[in-house]
Amino acid sequence: MEKHDFKVLIVGGSIAGLVLANMLEQVGIDFLVLEAYPEIAPQVGASIGFFPNGCRILDQIGCYDGVRGKLDQESKDLFYNSQQGIPLSLIPFAGQHFVERHGYGIIFIDRQMAIEVFYEKLKGKSKVLVDKRVVSVTPLANGVQVVTKDGSTYTGDILVGADGVHSTIRQEMWRLGDELSPGRFPKSDRTDVPCDYHCMFGISKGVVGLTESSTQTVLGHNNSYLVIDGPGSRTYWFLFVKNERTLRGMENEIPQSFTEEQKKALAEKHWNDPVTPKVTFGDLYKNHTSAVLTAIPEFVNTEWHFGRTIITGDAVHKFNPISGQGGNNALETAATLTTEILNMLKAVPAGQRPSDADVTAAFQRTQDCRRAPVTVAVDISHQQQSIFACETPLFGFLARVIPFLGAEGTFEKFADAALPARRLPMLPMPKRPRFEPYHDELPSKPLGGLAFSLLIATGIFASLFYIALNGTQKTLFALSNGVPPDPLQYIYLFPIFVIWTLESYRNANAFSFVSLPIVFGIASQLVGIGKVAPLYFLLSVLGNARIMYTRAIGRPVPISVAHTILPAVFLGYAVPLVLTRAGIVDNAASTSFSRAALPILVAFHTYAAKRLLDLWNPPDAFDMYKKADVRPLRDAYRVSFLLATGAHIALFLLPQSALGLDGLWKTAPSFLWEQLLATDSDFPLFALATALFCLHSVYELRRTGWATTGQALGAAAAVVGGLPLVGPTAVYAAVWYWREGVWSQEVDLQGRKD
Ligand SMILES: Cc1cc2nc3c(=O)[nH]c(=O)nc-3n(C[C@H](O)[C@H](O)[C@H](O)COP(=O)(O)OP(=O)(O)OC[C@H]3O[C@@H](n4cnc5c(N)ncnc54)[C@H](O)[C@@H]3O)c2cc1C
Repeated sequence: MEKHDFKVLIVGGSIAGLVLANMLEQVGIDFLVLEAYPEIAPQVGASIGFFPNGCRILDQIGCYDGVRGKLDQESKDLFYNSQQGIPLSLIPFAGQHFVERHGYGIIFIDRQMAIEVFYEKLKGKSKVLVDKRVVSVTPLANGVQVVTKDGSTYTGDILVGADGVHSTIRQEMWRLGDELSPGRFPKSDRTDVPCDYHCMFGISKGVVGLTESSTQTVLGHNNSYLVIDGPGSRTYWFLFVKNERTLRGMENEIPQSFTEEQKKALAEKHWNDPVTPKVTFGDLYKNHTSAVLTAIPEFVNTEWHFGRTIITGDAVHKFNPISGQGGNNALETAATLTTEILNMLKAVPAGQRPSDADVTAAFQRTQDCRRAPVTVAVDISHQQQSIFACETPLFGFLARVIPFLGAEGTFEKFADAALPARRLPMLPMPKRPRFEPYHDELPSKPLGGLAFSLLIATGIFASLFYIALNGTQKTLFALSNGVPPDPLQYIYLFPIFVIWTLESYRNANAFSFVSLPIVFGIASQLVGIGKVAPLYFLLSVLGNARIMYTRAIGRPVPISVAHTILPAVFLGYAVPLVLTRAGIVDNAASTSFSRAALPILVAFHTYAAKRLLDLWNPPDAFDMYKKADVRPLRDAYRVSFLLATGAHIALFLLPQSALGLDGLWKTAPSFLWEQLLATDSDFPLFALATALFCLHSVYELRRTGWATTGQALGAAAAVVGGLPLVGPTAVYAAVWYWREGVWSQEVDLQGRKD
């Protein structure tokens, strides 16, 4: 029973149309699907891959288990092969990583299977009519009417064209637009649509030599392959071939179909192409049960709607299939459209029907929400194709660089598509735990503004570094000041050693400057931390601009490092002391020795301890999803905080006579507030840089959505208030303690309500 007196006519009963029908049914909106084909779910030889962005929506409408159930097993290994079919890289258990990260794996099945699931899920099966090819559209007062090829007419409050890339509804919408509102639809959408590739795709059975449940991407010269080992001994394969030139215009140059001869000629041309070391394209083709050759136009229409008609799915955004995002984005657009229709109906006063203006506003919101991200996604698919086909020497070079980016580089591309995905905010989200929150599951809405944040922070830390380099400050914490070793100095810097060492192991910092703490440690001892800290913070800020830093996957530190950091740093402190006491290093040399040795020893101990623990308990690629590093990391920050706070109180807040420390701090007066404020000391610069870096880190957590505004304001206030009370290094440890917790918090599957 529908909750709303409102009927949606859907033309096209495939991916976009049937998913939209399911969504409308579940939110209580009436619909009627008109499908041109004489049967639901015909076998047209196509396959479809569902990725996390699509799966999450399918889960909400109760179709995920159905499509997943078509698989024999989770997709496993991702191979990336050269033109000779030789693996350049392999990501084992990639599908399982997807499940851990995003809650959903990769599901590649026959398109027919998916459509069957969507149809079976519908309660109102009588609302899906087959053999109903729509031929014309007529606007009515407060509605719309369509006529089908058999002469029947159907009316609805609104019309959704989900009738694919050669959409009749799009044609009709343009015709009506040209008649009633000339200029609304740009001519370029009709004449300039580009087509750079054609694709032969098929399904084969019983191909021997492919790794079970694997996916193979194979590079080529102006062509590339995608080969997927599917359920029931099927192999899904795609041969993408670049056109000799860009064809333009759906009704002009882009062919709507190809002949059998063209298909066979293409197969023969590529017959001997190696796909893997054991399998050629010929092996795939000779076992095919279906093979289709099709042109690949790529576009996102400028205007998506007119009057009471809107187009969706391939009718409005058409992808190069290499990314497997066409259908998944059709699901996202359907989710957005359903949301906007429902919001519109809820906003209409009881007893009234939505006006033309209400409908236009809802359609426009759908377009506004989806057009920009879909345009980016279509462009990315195109680039991906250009690289895999090694279209130019530069693309060929980039194709060869991809293996060096490791598994994380590949996963990042999938995450870019998955994490900003839309869903149905009005429907509950089934419980499938995930490591990575989607953007709408973060505690607050990401603010954007990366460039601005980066510019400000870079300016600040570059200026501080410049002042430090060119100033005449006395370096307090360095060998070069020539003062005897002072235990309290070391304790003051304990959080620095702990944090800088941990950061060097953090996932997000791999291959960045801050992964070299030993360099910063030694430099600090030579020229003073007042000079080195601004530089370290500057480089951190630049590194934090990486997408990885905004994601949950950027946070983890190897568990073995998290467990060994405290003993490693303590040992780094203890060894010089013991060697000096034992007379192995004489007193005169002890200052230099202990200070120079400390960063080296800390780095060495951490590395050695990690290696030992890893031998004892070999690390597993899935370890990080357990978040077992969080507790020991927070313990390390807690201990660092306590030590640094103690050192700060002893040095700055208590008269040294009270502690019996007279004379210990040789270069400073006994009551060190004066020292802190002295213009000839680099300590204020160090304190200022540390506090500003903490504030920047707090802001970044808010900017990227990991902290709420309230939490961020509270943390910022604590930084400012804590600075005089506990000192900059203890504040640093406290912020890192807080940050580790915020960054590792459990995902709220029901998401935010904005
Ligand atoms: C080779 C290839 C591989 C792909 N792989 C993937 C993938 O792995 N993952 C992914 O997400 N996407 C993939 N896609 C894209 C995906 O198939 C499409 O994005 C998706 O099918 C779009 O769904 P749709 O419902 O908009 O259009 P279609 O699936 O084309 O369906 C349109 C429907 O409308 C009907 N119709 C047409 N005209 C009329 C009319 N006048 N009246 C009534 N009914 C009509 C048709 O019969 C059809 O049922 C791939 C595409 C290709 C070409």
